[in-house]
Amino acid sequence: MSLIRTEIQQLMSKHKGYAPVRTCISCGARNNKKKMIRLVLDDDGFVVRDVDGKGRGRGAYVCPDIACLRAVPKGNKLSRVFRKNGLIRIHPDLNV
Ligand SMILES: [Zn+2]
Repeated sequence: MSLIRTEIQQLMSKHKGYAPVRTCISCGARNNKKKMIRLVLDDDGFVVRDVDGKGRGRGAYVCPDIACLRAVPKGNKLSRVFRKNGLIRIHPDLNV
């Protein structure tokens, strides 16, 4: 029983692309979703960090890197990322 479980785990870890991967909206690097910072839109149209993973709606991801947080695109590109028209602003807390 436990032997089978181990075999399944080995198979899964060998399977390429098993870990969910997301693309950084700033630099385009692809990384494990768990290592990325998730960004969401709050009710006021501000891009904020999805700290507890409970943010609703469509999320975007950036590298856990201050350079990428500062380089988050603005304006139309951001509207495309979040598939939302209208004014999207980056919350002041995001660009540390
Ligand atoms: Zn990045």
